[in-house]
Amino acid sequence: MPGRSTSSSGSTGFISFSGVESALSSLKNFQSCISSGMDTAYSVALDLVETQTEVSSEYSMDKAMVEFAEMDRKLNHYLKAVQSTINRVKEERPEKIPNLKSLVEKKLLALQKKNSDADLQNNEKFAQFKQQLKELKKQYGLQADREADGTEGVDEDMIVTQSQTNFICPITQLEMKKPVKNKVCGHTYEEEAIVRMIENKHKRKKKACCPKIGCSHTDVKMSDLIQDEVLRRAIESHKKKRRQSD
Ligand SMILES: [Zn+2]
Repeated sequence: MPGRSTSSSGSTGFISFSGVESALSSLKNFQSCISSGMDTAYSVALDLVETQTEVSSEYSMDKAMVEFAEMDRKLNHYLKAVQSTINRVKEERPEKIPNLKSLVEKKLLALQKKNSDADLQNNEKFAQFKQQLKELKKQYGLQADREADGTEGVDEDMIVTQSQTNFICPITQLEMKKPVKNKVCGHTYEEEAIVRMIENKHKRKKKACCPKIGCSHTDVKMSDLIQDEVLRRAIESHKKKRRQSD
């Protein structure tokens, strides 16, 4: 705990938090490491489904994701505890520097008391991982109920034809390279195009409507967009096949 970096800056009597704050920002860097770790586990799991490796290894990716989600929660709690302690001290401006370490620990304990398994399932990346994995398995006909009726997977070409229209971005009218899905209405767009659209609208203090024809969603937010890794892979593999048959 970088408690000693909270020195009084002499003349004004204010407590300086620059040390704590810089420690906090390096912890936030660590947060992005967790996030990229999750991306890796996620992409490995998708690879495993694609190459149809046995389920047990995919399951271990699932476990890795839960561990990452746990780490992420721990780190978030710690950041929250430190930040709220700093805020409180700043607000109250006590005469003496309080024992920050114990204040943070108290806050942290309170946050951890509320921990539940549901938090992990609600971790955005983990939820996304689960959902996309399910979709990919559906594409490959790997669902348990399909296996039961003895059909050897689903005709891949058929799936591709069915979803080919979904490869086109409603904004650019081109095949997408980096599709993102809107969590709210479920439509997908080219990332660059939708981001530019939202930014332009917001600059003019307007809301961005979903550009998909017939969609009634009128407020597309940056935070509602998630990478559609399954679709990206489907487009890629379709492209490869097209190249081979040319
Ligand atoms: Zn939409």
